[in-house]
Amino acid sequence: MSTAHVTCPLCEATCGLEVTFDGSTVTGARGDAADVFSAGFVCPKGASLGALHHDPDRLRTPLVRRDGELVEATWEEAFAEIERRLPPILAEHGRDAVGIYAGNPSVHNTSTALYGSAFFKAVGTKNFYTAGTVDQIPKHYSAGLMFGHPLTIPVPDLDRTSYLLLLGANPLVSNGSLMTAPDVRGRLRGIRSRGGKIVVVDPKRSRTAEVADEHHAIRPGADALLLFALVHVLFADDLVALGPLEPHVAGVEAVRALADLFTPDAVAERTGLAATEIRRLAHELAAAPTAAVYGRIGTTTQAFGTLASWLVDVLNVLTGNLDRPGGAMFPLAAAGQPNARPGTRKPWTVGRWRSRVRDLPEVLGELPVATLADEILTPGEGRVRALVTVCGNPCLSTPNAGRLTDALGQLDFMVSLDVYLNETTRHADVVLPGPTPLERPHYDLALYQLAVRNVANWTPAALPTDVPQEWETLLRLTGIAAGMGAVADVSALDAMVAAEAARRAGVDVAAAGDRTGPARIIDLLLRGGPYDLTLADLEAAPHGVDLGPLTSRLPGVLSTASGLVELAPAAILADVPRLAAVLAEPLDGRLVLIGRRQLGSNNSWMHNLEPLVRGQNRCTAQVHPTDATRLGLVDGAPAVVRSRAGKVEIPVEVTDAIRPGVVSIPHGWGHDVDGTRASVARAHAGVNTNLLADDTLLDALSGTAVLNGIPVDVEPV
Ligand code: SF4
Repeated sequence: MSTAHVTCPLCEATCGLEVTFDGSTVTGARGDAADVFSAGFVCPKGASLGALHHDPDRLRTPLVRRDGELVEATWEEAFAEIERRLPPILAEHGRDAVGIYAGNPSVHNTSTALYGSAFFKAVGTKNFYTAGTVDQIPKHYSAGLMFGHPLTIPVPDLDRTSYLLLLGANPLVSNGSLMTAPDVRGRLRGIRSRGGKIVVVDPKRSRTAEVADEHHAIRPGADALLLFALVHVLFADDLVALGPLEPHVAGVEAVRALADLFTPDAVAERTGLAATEIRRLAHELAAAPTAAVYGRIGTTTQAFGTLASWLVDVLNVLTGNLDRPGGAMFPLAAAGQPNARPGTRKPWTVGRWRSRVRDLPEVLGELPVATLADEILTPGEGRVRALVTVCGNPCLSTPNAGRLTDALGQLDFMVSLDVYLNETTRHADVVLPGPTPLERPHYDLALYQLAVRNVANWTPAALPTDVPQEWETLLRLTGIAAGMGAVADVSALDAMVAAEAARRAGVDVAAAGDRTGPARIIDLLLRGGPYDLTLADLEAAPHGVDLGPLTSRLPGVLSTASGLVELAPAAILADVPRLAAVLAEPLDGRLVLIGRRQLGSNNSWMHNLEPLVRGQNRCTAQVHPTDATRLGLVDGAPAVVRSRAGKVEIPVEVTDAIRPGVVSIPHGWGHDVDGTRASVARAHAGVNTNLLADDTLLDALSGTAVLNGIPVDVEPV
């Protein structure tokens, strides 16, 4: 029997787990009571790490397509096939002919987070897509313009705030998103036990709403209107109080002028909140000793996602709550992540290139994945002819998934790095698996810069494996894309990546001694970080290192050209008339579709683990009793849901938790397709709600898909 203490890499909460083994068999996974951040918390997904590790459907050897069938192959055969087919496409059709899609798990994997960019640069394509353009780019967009870097995102200081206003967020189920906070339930309980208040704005009475003091069932897609009305009341009732922020903020008067139009009365019908309630909320927010406004997926997956994301932080600024304890604060991550080392002051820019077919702008080096199918299906120079997917399942996760699925059939070549043969990777010509979370080292590079407390935790691999680490696989692909072939020297490439990391961190690469791979880079980044840490310090602290509560970081955290918080960025203000125009449009009364988070799901994966899917079918269309009666829908009976993009047949769940006029279907399901290797998921298939999501509906600024408020029709089967 042995025990390992690991950081759970499955979601953003970064919980510490205690995993027990009998030899190489996982016998248990529970919360690590000594973890400095999560203190014993674990959710059902984390507790299923053993089931994930031992899943017999998980790929352990590469697959290569021979005579139309994916068959097991050696690693050398797999790389030889890639070398045979990928470089000719690059040579004949140019770098943009190869598209790349990186899924959400690639952020939670230290190898792909550190080495993905080497491969992406070697390919040199403008057709780079990630899951971020499905749900979170608006927040990066607004943060980039307001604070100077798209990862300089303030998070609610959950452990000290006395008033928390949550919009479109259900952290009790998501376990936090763009906010790393293990045990959200305990932290919310802490707010109330301190005498504080929690207000949830969501079209659904979510589990988070159920533990809040107040819930307001807003109309889907109306968050920006509500937020603007709150801003309006702050100005109109003389409640704006920047306090010590005053010298660090530009653009307050421009926001005042724009907010004039968005009175509580003007937005009441559109939002579904009474004007008196909106005024009361604004006064409460202003009067709270400390307060934080936080918006998540419901606010970023709508037609005004960037405006809503911006207005969340406008409220934090106008109430004086930005950058103060108990407000919305900037974490200071240990490994020198971007928000820990603001660069030279310069405007953050978008639109450095545009998509070929729909002329959509690049944001953060990414094009909207909603246009990937266009780029594959539309003939002409620059057409995407080959695709590499990294830990992603866009056939379930991206809008108009049916069209994208058809498009994958038109590719000349496709490579997938993935541990499952899923709804997307079944289209690949080569599939390259990776080790399980227990077979690889881990440091949460991305998420500690969004953590509600400053912490650092290194997890060495708990088990040996003969599956190559993803960083080695990515470097072999880098060699192929760079013209060095499949026999490129991985050690030399690793040394180059480390040298670049050292240069950026401002340290000598030799400081890491004879370490290699992610351990060397994390050591270098820690040495260049703000806490004088080394990897050896973290290795000596298996339960993590607590670096203390968040601290005030203005103005040093800013990298805007002015050195100020830009409250009124021109690009965002230019989009306000589009929002204002909505006020004049009549409500059409159509049903609208929203998504739904589920605790046992991790977007489109984890459905192949029996402990997480057993029991009642959770992939249902929730409708309010009044809509069910009006439409003749019966609880448990099937219904057809149609949108412009497609239709699905799904069981109805009648519940008064959902706002009338709204239908909710969870995302990530739809495993009833041939050619996958996921027997449990297939037996609990559900339906793919992204068949309904309309790839033509985007947030105008960020290109992020509209998943919240899709017009649909519903009728009984
Ligand atoms: S909340 Fe997230 S990090 Fe914590 S155990 Fe669950 S899946 Fe893992």
